[in-house]
Amino acid sequence: MKKIREIKIGNVVLGGNHPIAVQTMWDKPIETVDVNLMKSINKLESYGCKLIRFAAPTIESVPLLGKIAEKTQMPLVADIHFDYKIALECMDYNIPKIRINPGNIGASWKVEEVVKKAGDTNTVIRVGANGGSLPKNLKKMENRAEAIVLAAEEQLNFLESLNFHNIVVSLKSSDIEENYYTNEVFHSRHDYPLHLGITEAGPLIPSVVKSSIGLSRLLKEGIGNTIRISITDDPLKEVIAANEILSVLKMNSTKRINLISCPKCGRSSFDTHTFTQEIQDYLYSVDKDISVAVMGCMVNGPGESEHADLGISGVGNSIAIFKKGEIIRRESACSAKEAFIEEIEKL
Ligand code: SF4
Repeated sequence: MKKIREIKIGNVVLGGNHPIAVQTMWDKPIETVDVNLMKSINKLESYGCKLIRFAAPTIESVPLLGKIAEKTQMPLVADIHFDYKIALECMDYNIPKIRINPGNIGASWKVEEVVKKAGDTNTVIRVGANGGSLPKNLKKMENRAEAIVLAAEEQLNFLESLNFHNIVVSLKSSDIEENYYTNEVFHSRHDYPLHLGITEAGPLIPSVVKSSIGLSRLLKEGIGNTIRISITDDPLKEVIAANEILSVLKMNSTKRINLISCPKCGRSSFDTHTFTQEIQDYLYSVDKDISVAVMGCMVNGPGESEHADLGISGVGNSIAIFKKGEIIRRESACSAKEAFIEEIEKL
């Protein structure tokens, strides 16, 4: 497998033998850094998010990002467009990575200033290209995938000409074939870590389908060092989806619970939908390599989930917890969640 150069972003290293880092992007403007905001950010971390990106639309937004950086272990990435001064400002705070598009920063001396300060402050720069926003000179190319690669290489060459190599690259398309081709070609030519994602992938279901198919092919070939599942929905869902993809591919860096749950059918007497929702926060933040089943009926549930380490199902107010298909405990509906967590803790 090709060796990818190591790029350190705060406490996360991409490339080398380091695991693939899950990341997301915060989806709202930051107006204040309060307890609720930090609670949501900490929740993303507990679900397995390793890097978090924020838009930095104005100079005034940067100190707020600096404040967040003081309160979380996750390294911050600032997303900057148009104004090079915002990029310079970010580097006065604990923001170890910035994402810029040199094409919209303006005159090359402005990009040079950003790159110089990034060198002085050991800040990583993410550059890249997106099928939807190609520079004018490449827009007319018939082969759009090749145009995306060339657009990224133009930015890369410029940074390298300034002797700057602390770089992560992204090449994104909303078309999964095009996305595959661009990343595969870039990977064959360069050794910079790649940020993978299917851009503008849509709401939850279309995005997860496209991202799973599009990214797993690359990941299985050893291509990609950090992933973001772009979803028109809560960033928490992006983190869950990314970790699920990595878990299925057995590429997850941390132990995770494999949640098996039945869809329910006409035989169902236990509400798997509600119970799964209620226990989700706990399950996604536990560091255990086990399988847990939430099944809708006592007729087929225990049998269908025999291979799970622990399962739960029930009839009305009588809830059964079972281990490898055998009932080990009975509870009422109101004590079921607590009892189930207690049994998971014992494993
Ligand atoms: S476990 Fe029971 S409720 Fe769930 S799908 Fe199977 S038969 Fe239906």
